Amino acid sequence: MAGLETAYARLRRVLYERDDGILPTHATLEASVASLPQDDDPTYLVGRGSQATLDHLFRDIVPALNGQNLTGRYYGFVTGSSLPIAEVADNIVSALDQNVQVHLPDQTVSTIVEDTALRMLAALLELNGHDDNPAVPAGHHSYETRFPSRTFTTGATASNILGLACGREAVITGRIRRQGPEEPQETGSSTTAVTTVAGAGLLAACLAAGVRRIQVLTSMCHSSLSKAASIIGLGRGAVRDLPASASEPWRLNLDAVEHELSRGANEGVVSIIVVGAGEVNTGRFGTNGLDMPKLRSLADRYGAWIHVDGAFGIFARALPQRDEFLTLRAQTAGLELADSIALDCHKLLNVPYDTGAFFCRSPVIQSEVFSNANASYLSSHSSSQIPSPLNIGLENSRRFRALPVYAVLLSEGRSGLGEMFARMVRLAREVAAFVRDSDDYEWLPDPDASLDSTHIVVLFRARDSQLNENLAQRINETRRMYVSETRWDGQKACRIAVSSYRVDVKADLAVVKDVLRLVVQTKH
Ligand SMILES: *Cc1c(COP(=O)(O)O)cnc(C)c1O
Repeated sequence: MAGLETAYARLRRVLYERDDGILPTHATLEASVASLPQDDDPTYLVGRGSQATLDHLFRDIVPALNGQNLTGRYYGFVTGSSLPIAEVADNIVSALDQNVQVHLPDQTVSTIVEDTALRMLAALLELNGHDDNPAVPAGHHSYETRFPSRTFTTGATASNILGLACGREAVITGRIRRQGPEEPQETGSSTTAVTTVAGAGLLAACLAAGVRRIQVLTSMCHSSLSKAASIIGLGRGAVRDLPASASEPWRLNLDAVEHELSRGANEGVVSIIVVGAGEVNTGRFGTNGLDMPKLRSLADRYGAWIHVDGAFGIFARALPQRDEFLTLRAQTAGLELADSIALDCHKLLNVPYDTGAFFCRSPVIQSEVFSNANASYLSSHSSSQIPSPLNIGLENSRRFRALPVYAVLLSEGRSGLGEMFARMVRLAREVAAFVRDSDDYEWLPDPDASLDSTHIVVLFRARDSQLNENLAQRINETRRMYVSETRWDGQKACRIAVSSYRVDVKADLAVVKDVLRLVVQTKH
């Protein structure tokens, strides 16, 4: 299309001139909706051409989108922004429109770049143990990854589906193997020995394994885990909450886990353990210190699978090695002992939607579940170590998601990213200190907690219960910052999640304090 560069220049100008703050006004939203094609209009689906279309996009659509990438003070959900280098890389992806489904090293470097980016990501998050750590003496850097199976996904939800699916395969086939060969069973039209869930299906495999129930043991896990459990046939009811205590409900109760595993062993119940890192309301972590080694030995003893949902929290492992982050490092220690790990790149890593990653200890299990077998026209004819993405993930055809991640890792490096994450944590802690010390607000969940336990999420409520009822709305109406409304202990609460590279600790703190004071002063 002629004028692509003019279009980009125009987009930049529109974005920078936007002055209606983080959220579009109601009037802007209404005008935008009214501008959309109506199916009773005689010109419906009559091509308008690119110029008129661009005019419409800039005039009617762009102003009606929220400004989550235009400001560092969009604190809703955990959205991240897009680093400029990631945005450029993402536009390259669109321009070249690579289909990353088959590893074709003689034709495109895309799958090799993907694998390189995943290795860099694993190293950033120290998932390989000491090999990642630059402080380890030279000569000890042999590259042996704990997670030889890895892929990009659309996000942590998809990665959680992959994790539970691999866990399901492992715990059931493991039990079939331990029992020794069974009588062949009817599966479909043929009679074959049941050895895998992937081959025989969940019902036949559970029968062969003597499994009555598959349970997911966790503590305050993200809602997407229940969705994943539903999708892969375990059911939402399979997810069981085992909180360490009423005051630390995000932490996994290891004694309860042990009890469930040992009881289940005799009762035909198999388990997938899901460790949350971190919990969405509080940002707190499911394990601490030596919990992971303990969980690992329990899982090995009873044939359980450990999956970590590390969507945003696992990035605490990439914080600089400084005292201020020691608590967070302890709380994310040992996560590399899991069997599988889900994480988001479109949150803290600040790449565009939609990109997550999945790491798995077992290439055999991951390809067992996800291989797109028997399509010879899709085979790579390559003896390479890199599998075709279509054999290890949900999609066949898919976007070259790796490139923005690769660009960010290359551009920022370990220290650039560490400092970016550190700025997020520092702002969150400043805000936490402000609400903690304020007469008008209450810092949740534990006002006596150490600020060192704060990662990027701050949970709080107004002490005035009337103000608290619509606190989030009042804050968001200022259009100077955006927070999410949530519930904690049965009451409404507000939640700030700092996740943009644009964070400017001093300037943003001043705005946050100003807004939080203002909504108290103007309450009626
Ligand atoms: C955001 C999030 C998810 C879901 O991730 P999507 O990127 O929305 O698919 C899962 N778990 C946790 C802990 C999250 O924060």
